[in-house]
Amino acid sequence: APLDIDAFRRDLGDIPVEDNPKLVLQKSRDFYWYSPVLKRQLDHVTADLVVTPRTIDDVVTTLASAHRHGVPVTPRGAGTGNYGQAMPLSGGAVLNLAGLTKVVASSPMTVRAEAGAILARIDEETRAAHGAEMRFHPSTYRTATIGGFVAGGSGGVGSIRWGGLRNFGNIISLKVVTCEASPRILDIEGTDILKVAHAYGTNGIIVEAEVPLTAGYDWVDVLAGFDTIEDAVRFARNVALQDGMLLKEIAPIAAPVPHDYFVRHQKFIRKDQSVVVMMAAPQAMAALSIFLAHEKGEMLYRSDAASEEDLKRLPPAYELAWNHTTLRGLKVDPSITYLQTQYPDLETLKKIIALLGDEMPMHNEMIRFDGRVVFSGLPIVRFSTEERLEEIIRIHEDNGCLVFNPHRYTLEEGGMKRSDPGQLAFKREADPKGILNPGKMIAWENPDFDFASGKAWLFSGLQSAG
Ligand code: FAD
Repeated sequence: APLDIDAFRRDLGDIPVEDNPKLVLQKSRDFYWYSPVLKRQLDHVTADLVVTPRTIDDVVTTLASAHRHGVPVTPRGAGTGNYGQAMPLSGGAVLNLAGLTKVVASSPMTVRAEAGAILARIDEETRAAHGAEMRFHPSTYRTATIGGFVAGGSGGVGSIRWGGLRNFGNIISLKVVTCEASPRILDIEGTDILKVAHAYGTNGIIVEAEVPLTAGYDWVDVLAGFDTIEDAVRFARNVALQDGMLLKEIAPIAAPVPHDYFVRHQKFIRKDQSVVVMMAAPQAMAALSIFLAHEKGEMLYRSDAASEEDLKRLPPAYELAWNHTTLRGLKVDPSITYLQTQYPDLETLKKIIALLGDEMPMHNEMIRFDGRVVFSGLPIVRFSTEERLEEIIRIHEDNGCLVFNPHRYTLEEGGMKRSDPGQLAFKREADPKGILNPGKMIAWENPDFDFASGKAWLFSGLQSAG
């Protein structure tokens, strides 16, 4: 109700607030439109206002006021999430953390930054100070915030060496503000981190994060060409298992995606060529070239031998990988979409490739997952209907492949299809009124929901369209 919003706003004092509907709408969306399903469901969603705290004290004041007046609060970093995570389903306030940008402390081993610090800026500082960089980052490195990554991301460039955010040890500590009458500022460490990380901000606002560092390198971008996607995925697995070659990124992508969608790299790639996108440490390049020739791959591009002009013109290799592959595809052909999958081994992956062919051009990201090298997948899907999309998901599941459905806005349905008791218990403590990012945690809204029913969950508090 508008009355609540006015009272909420009065209690914010001089904290910057935006209520221009156009600007509020801009800050009420993320990259949900990758999904035709989420686009249909969430296109109309908007907040009443955007609050931009300048300090941690401002965050405390905002959450106290929200609690007092029962106003929903949806945190936002850079808004690059893909599942409507940062969209305010019940309206209220978007809490824009982009103003908290400081790197608070760093050593050769760790860095602590405020939630709104941009990932690439953090690495710039730690590289200059210590020759060190973060273990991994999403391909949205140049825009995404560390708070948004911890709250909504999974892993990315570097995950071939270090696994992902879900792996214990990849986040050292978090500073979190609760949403209570008197918000508390908690320093969270150890296993408690798992209660708050990847919770979409439903159970506390992260204001600082501390993560481990590793040695920084002038990574070399490499594109390798193969005659078939089967050859490309076999090479990707084999090179991922070479423990002596330091690679930060390995992504096999099926033809014709590289040629058709990597427009600025097109002159290097034949239309029928499948490509493995890589980033290698400079000292690994000699070994990588020999290994590639041995595996019958073709060196299409390496940034350490590129012309000045190409270096200026071309995006970095990581902006061809992860969900940038999909983004480049959407720019060329807006009718495509994608899935998030995981294949247990090369044989299963090849079976799925054979079953779906060019309806689902394969794109894998090689990652370490609980100590094993696995094929995670972000395959392109040539979208026809929502029913067929569900069928493609079923084909994966029937063949023993995991699907993390990117066409759902809840934590559970986008993840392992079960609720997380630790996250739920922490929400009871940290957000007793249930006003942080409403509608994203099914366990809170509807504890009896049957995940085995196969039905999509619908949030009853979702703003109605029009
Ligand atoms: P936002 O989108 O603003 O927020 C993400 C979630 O966290 C939302 O639920 C939001 O409410 C919550 N949140 C934000 N800040 C806070 C806070 N301070 N406290 C509590 N909750 C908060 N993801 C990957 O993991 N790996 C990838 O490689 C990857 N590649 C991508 C490529 C493209 C082209 C796109 C569009 C997306 C990609 N993503 C990837 C998803 C997304 O970019 C990342 O997860 C990114 O780290 C999110 O950061 P953000 O600052 O944009 O967060």
